[in-house]
Amino acid sequence: MVTEGSGTLPASTPEATAAQAQSREAPRAAAAAPVPEDSSGEGVLYSVGPGVERAVRGQPYERSSDDPIYRPLRIFTRDPAESRLEGSVGLVNVPYEPLQPGPVGRVFEVDSVDGQLGVEYPRVDLDDPFLLIRQGRDPSPTDPRFHQQMVYAVCSTVYAAFKAALGRHLAWGFDRATTTPDEAVRLRLRPHARQEENAYYDKECGEISFGYFQAAHTVHGVNLPGGFIFTSLSHDIVAHEVTHALLDGLRAQFALATGPDVFAFHEAFADLVALFVRFSYEQVVQAAIRKSKGRIEKAEMLTEIAKQFGQARGLERALRSAIDVGDDSTAPKLYDSSLEAHELGSVLVAAVFEAFATVFRRKSAVYLRLATNGTGELPPGEIPADLQTVLARTASKLASQFLTMCIRAIDYCPPVDVEFGEFLRAIVTADRNLVPDDPWGYREAWIDAFRRRMIYPKHVSSLSEDALVWRSAATPVPPIMALSFAKLQFEGDPGRAASVGELRRQACALGTVITDPRHLEAFGLARPDDPALGGDRLELPCVHSVRSARRIGPDGQVVFDLVAEVTQRRIVQARDGAPSFDFYGGSTIIIGPRGGIRYVISKSVRNQERLEQQRAFISGHRGRAFWARDAQGRLGPSHQAFKLVHTPPPEATSAS
Ligand SMILES: [Zn+2]
Repeated sequence: MVTEGSGTLPASTPEATAAQAQSREAPRAAAAAPVPEDSSGEGVLYSVGPGVERAVRGQPYERSSDDPIYRPLRIFTRDPAESRLEGSVGLVNVPYEPLQPGPVGRVFEVDSVDGQLGVEYPRVDLDDPFLLIRQGRDPSPTDPRFHQQMVYAVCSTVYAAFKAALGRHLAWGFDRATTTPDEAVRLRLRPHARQEENAYYDKECGEISFGYFQAAHTVHGVNLPGGFIFTSLSHDIVAHEVTHALLDGLRAQFALATGPDVFAFHEAFADLVALFVRFSYEQVVQAAIRKSKGRIEKAEMLTEIAKQFGQARGLERALRSAIDVGDDSTAPKLYDSSLEAHELGSVLVAAVFEAFATVFRRKSAVYLRLATNGTGELPPGEIPADLQTVLARTASKLASQFLTMCIRAIDYCPPVDVEFGEFLRAIVTADRNLVPDDPWGYREAWIDAFRRRMIYPKHVSSLSEDALVWRSAATPVPPIMALSFAKLQFEGDPGRAASVGELRRQACALGTVITDPRHLEAFGLARPDDPALGGDRLELPCVHSVRSARRIGPDGQVVFDLVAEVTQRRIVQARDGAPSFDFYGGSTIIIGPRGGIRYVISKSVRNQERLEQQRAFISGHRGRAFWARDAQGRLGPSHQAFKLVHTPPPEATSAS
């Protein structure tokens, strides 16, 4: 959607931002604090994890009816090395919120300190009337205040996409001490963190560090040899990093590299979000459509990831690409669990992008036929401007749908140890739930693209949609009436959790059911004295999160569910010279509006085969980097895992 800003630049409003901003939110009312109906099992049968309460500690600003809808801000839609004629400077509408200088809003705070030089730059005041009129500061690589504006604008846009897709406010995956209970927990963004060729989400500190560095002496593109490159000015890198943080908030256990796919999934998902968000800048899409004559898979402007970063490091190309096939006759890169995390992640990115390109071809065929007297064969030369526009709009809208599908699928992923094949099952289940008929064959395109790369889910009888959809509990579990929609309390809006007390009530209601001995196994859990554990110690099952999910389909249909994560830690004993380590099981539970259990996506804590796979992975060459032995010889996760995954091994040429 394009609306005219007050300058000459048309403003892009990502669909998710529009959906979020246009809905007027209810004024805040004092939330009742219900007493848990039965919390006697807490600490005895189950525990309630810190993630449950986080849902009320990171709430974004609620727009009142007098507030503006958007704050238009200028950004680099790719990076500073691209041509302005191709839309490299864009105006994006971010959801309005009042801002302190920094900027500091409700969910993000930008830190103006240069960690390398130890100096504090002036903080940008985006509520300054002069900057409001000028739609923020001029995009400039040399202006630290523009860097602050850039990270704020891009992170807010990505946040809005998550919020719209899930129909609820997001919670972060970290805690931070606050002076008052009502104070928001914010993700800190550090656009000048230090001089290094890296940018990473730091879960321990609750911040994203964007490094800056001098380009190599041999560079490509329009970069200056030895010139400074700021990762905070790369749209892709900013979107990628904030996605790591948002995904960590949704699935905290994915920060544990328990298998080859877990970090590769984090990387792939972060790249996919960066890619699809870029499609919301219509000028970029239109320029790309013009150059590629509507062949989206040939549109490098849309498929390249972090181009300047790659070129400044001496590569002739972007850091990564969403395309793994040269033309139709070339076989795609296949899934191989021995690949490095980014390499393996790129297989998933390419699969999703291929599904996107397939559906785009189907949707654009009618326009091509109309423009070519029915032949569909374009004549030489530029394609007509109207055709460019309609194809660009089709691509933007479709990218927004794919972005939404990817984000929603996270709710349908297991709580621990995710595998690529499970993401496919999550996509198919979430989408079929909302859009039972699929006239454009979206799901078929996904399944085909995964199959072509040999990304197969385990334990399914075929790759048909029916076989891929997740199942309910293996043993019948009666509806949990305490979690039916009629019993839930919200703060005015089902996307906003009512209070800590209400969330604890929900967690306890779930905890009581999952720890019923008749149901334990169905939820991937076990009793401490289970002989299958071989003497390993087992902690109490932990309710990690209970969240609402309100999804709106393309035809306006609304589906409301509760999504809960339960996990259980098994402390695997040291055996035969192999060290002790933690192994997790549990399940994601999707509960319908009447309290019925719709899906249980479980990974059993008793699964010996999976345990042996984790043991092999964490002691093998790929996993070793993310696990370290402590003084007692136990293997535990290394600190700053997201920094480690972005730090290339000496022989590798790609990072971020
Ligand atoms: Zn990453």
